[in-house]
Amino acid sequence: MRLALLGPPGAGKGTQASRICEAFDLLHLSSGDLLRAEKLNNSPLGKKIREYIDNGRFVPDELMINIMQNKITALIRQGFVLDGFPRTLSQAEALAKMLTALQRPLWLVVNLAVDPAVLTRRFEGRRICPVCLSVYHIELMPPMVADVCDHDGARLVIRPDDLPSVVRTRIQTYHQTIAPLLAFYRSGALLCDIDASGSVDQVWGLIKNRLESCGAGNERLQ
Ligand code: AMP
Repeated sequence: MRLALLGPPGAGKGTQASRICEAFDLLHLSSGDLLRAEKLNNSPLGKKIREYIDNGRFVPDELMINIMQNKITALIRQGFVLDGFPRTLSQAEALAKMLTALQRPLWLVVNLAVDPAVLTRRFEGRRICPVCLSVYHIELMPPMVADVCDHDGARLVIRPDDLPSVVRTRIQTYHQTIAPLLAFYRSGALLCDIDASGSVDQVWGLIKNRLESCGAGNERLQ
């Protein structure tokens, strides 16, 4: 199975991608996590990436496609969930081209749609572990000990791009770029729309039902 998750920042792509991967034994490929890991390296590439991410702007297509192509090609024998990629029509076209060349096309694209008021609330409480990059929410998905990562004990922080002014730019950019992407996948009959305004468990229930009704977990589709 090869899936991609679409949705605005705060839609829960990362959280739901982790659940899908756990349930169906797939790899989670998050473009944002790959970029943040590179940013932590403080390499020349990391510094370039920081300028885009911390200002809520998209990393240029060519760079993003290159990073994802290397990763996907190395892992193509395994099923995966793409989280945050593609985000533009050129990325979607490049992805289709690389997967066709590898004879492993996408199986389904899940579009997480969220009420804007719900998005604002989600951002206000989101926290991240600066060490392992695990994501929490102070009310909806709190760590076991307040402000401390369950996995490594590091103190949780607010992602620089979760600050309100940056979030506004990110959501605006999302709305400017999403229409052609949705049209691209709708025309290929790959798109599955999910209402992602509910709780993590509710949204997961909707996604799981949908994937199972499409045959997920069925050996023939692996
Ligand atoms: P995310 O963790 O998916 O919300 O991504 C965080 C940030 O990484 C985004 O706001 C962009 O700056 C950058 N980013 C992630 N994925 C992409 C992508 N597919 N294309 C361009 N920039 C991206």
